Formats: sequence, structure tokens, C-alpha cells
Amino acid sequence: MSKRDYYEVLEVARTADQPELKKAYRKLAMQFHPDRNPGDDVAEARFKEAAEAYEVLSNAEKRALYDRFGHEGLRGGGGGGGHAGFSSMDDIFSQFGDIFGDMFGFGGGGGGRRASGGPARGADLRYDLELSFEESAFGTARTIKIPRRTECVTCSGSGAKPGTQPVTCQMCAGRGQIHHSQGFFTLSSTCPQCHGAGKQITDACETCHGQGATQEEKEVSVKVPAGVDTGTRLRLRAEGQSGSRGGPPGDLYVFLYVQPSDVFERDGADLHIRADIPFVQATLGCEFEVPTLGEKHTLVVKPGTQHGDKLTLRNEGLARLTGSGRGDLIVHIGILIPQKLTTEQREILEQFAEVSGFAVKKSGFFDKLKEKIG
Ligand SMILES: [Zn+2]
Ligand SMILES: [Zn+2]
Repeated sequence: MSKRDYYEVLEVARTADQPELKKAYRKLAMQFHPDRNPGDDVAEARFKEAAEAYEVLSNAEKRALYDRFGHEGLRGGGGGGGHAGFSSMDDIFSQFGDIFGDMFGFGGGGGGRRASGGPARGADLRYDLELSFEESAFGTARTIKIPRRTECVTCSGSGAKPGTQPVTCQMCAGRGQIHHSQGFFTLSSTCPQCHGAGKQITDACETCHGQGATQEEKEVSVKVPAGVDTGTRLRLRAEGQSGSRGGPPGDLYVFLYVQPSDVFERDGADLHIRADIPFVQATLGCEFEVPTLGEKHTLVVKPGTQHGDKLTLRNEGLARLTGSGRGDLIVHIGILIPQKLTTEQREILEQFAEVSGFAVKKSGFFDKLKEKIG
């Protein structure tokens, strides 16, 4: 399969410097991010392609090789298999977490896997929560179950059996990277023995089988404030994955999806409703009841109300998430014109037309006949 040129993929000149590369990659990553293109295989492929291009070009050694020998120069490499692109999305996020950092508000260290042995912050988690319109209007409390990776209590996350210590990896002498020569070049890759940790466990902890963490389902209660909408994101601090080697836990992000109301149209904190009233009531004025979030509300329609007039009930909308107070309930008036009239109604209206000086088509003999048999 032919591969596209990495500079072409990132849409940069061959002379592009690091900030330019980063900017170009960021732009593409945002455009083709799987969160923004759910189920789109083409976008996913572009996303991976851009990540691979950036991975090579942002590394001075790899870039030099690529510049001289193209894709061929990055092949092989021995030992760890050299450069083979990314096998999964997780790899991309763990490697370039900082690029996405301010994009979706996810803090650094999301991948959890670090080449260094220092403390690492736990990954942020995402949970999608669907709410009814009423729950969004009045607020609610929900308990959700989150599968989480939690630092093993037996070994405090080291993965080593209590009383034993991880030993320095012999293959990489604790560096986490191995170097090998290829012609004039020295390539480095992640140590396949310790996967970059620099240390190896000889006696694995029995609780976590050397993983340093266990998987558990934790119940988290989520307090949803009134007025949330689809797209609202709640952040629950320190409810994400636990950190490793003493690092802090990540956060839990709850993404909300609110079902539409059967009664109201929603526009931010404002609610809209349509009320159709007969033309006579609009002309003479009337009172009728409209539904609100609480009790029904009596609406006074003034004489001479027009089709499309808007009547506003202040503070009968939804709670405002930012600031204070509530939105309004706006009633859109529609005027109903009768499609059928009784003979009496017709005569009265014809009389009305006459005193108003309106020329109308008066009902003749055939119309009257039609009324009688129809
Ligand atoms: Zn353990
Ligand atoms: Zn190693």
C-alpha cells in the first residue's frame, strides 16, 4: 500500500519548524477527531495518518531519516519493530495528550503510561448521561457506575509482591529505551522487555498480577443542576482513573444529552410554545390556560391580537446555568380561521362585512343548497 508523504499529510512545507508542525497537526487532529466524527472511518484514518506523520516529523532523528530515505528509512529498525505507526487510538492519545489538552479540557497524562518511573496522573474518564427534559428543567441526582482502574492496595501500585522490589530492566539498563545502529544512524525505540518503564517485576503481586492496578466498578453520584442542556459537561474532580506511583487521580467528565420536550421548544433558558386561538377570540380578546413548567398559567389575550404576536411570561423558562434567574416562556399566537360555517354564522359574518364596508362573496343559491345536502 502506498503511503502519503508526511509533509503532504500535515500540509506543511518541508522546511516547517516545530511550532508550525504542531499547529498543523493540532488543526487536523481537531478536524478529524473521533469525538467529532463518530463512526466516520475516513476521518479516523485521516486522524491516524496525521498522528503518524506528526510522530515522525516531531522527532529530529526520525525526521532526518525520513528526509533522506523516505518511508523506507523508517522501516525495520530491529528489536522493537521500529516504526510501525499507531495500533490504536489510545496510543495516539497517550503520546500526544498535550495536543488535545486544551481542546477538550482533558488534562495531561491521560494515557497513564509513562516512559519515566515518576508519579503519573490517572486518566480522565468520560460518561454519557441521558436525561429527560423534566430532569434537565428541575435538576436531578443520579448514581452512575464507572468502571475504573484503581491502584492496587496490596502492592500500592508497584505491581511487585509485597516485600520484593522491581529490579532494573537488564535489556535497557533502566533507560526504558534501547538504541541500535543502522548504517550511520543510531535509532532508539521503547524497550520491549519493560515497555519503557526501566524496571521489571520478578515476583508479581498476586492481587493485581503485576499490573499495579485492579479494575472495579465504582458508584458515583452525580448532581445535575437545573437548566442543563445537551452539550453540558459536568466535571467531577478526582473521580477518574487513579494515578500510578503516587500520582493524583484523573477527573470524570459527564456529558449530558437531554431529550426534547413534548410540549416546549427550547432555546437556551427560554421556552417557546404555540397557542392557536379562533379569530373571534383574537379579535374580541379572551383568557386561556397555557402549560408552564409548574402550574398552568392563565394568559390574557388582548382584543385585536394578531397572528404571530408573542406573549411573554417572564421567569417561566428554565434556570440559567450561568448567572442567575430564569428564562422566559414565550407564547406564539396563531389565529384559527374556521373552514366550515353554519348558515347562521355565515349570515352574521356577512352582516359584519356589510357594516364594515368589506366586499365579500355572498353565499348564493347553490352554496345554500350545498350546505343543506353536504
Ligand atoms: Zn498489586
Ligand atoms: Zn527495559
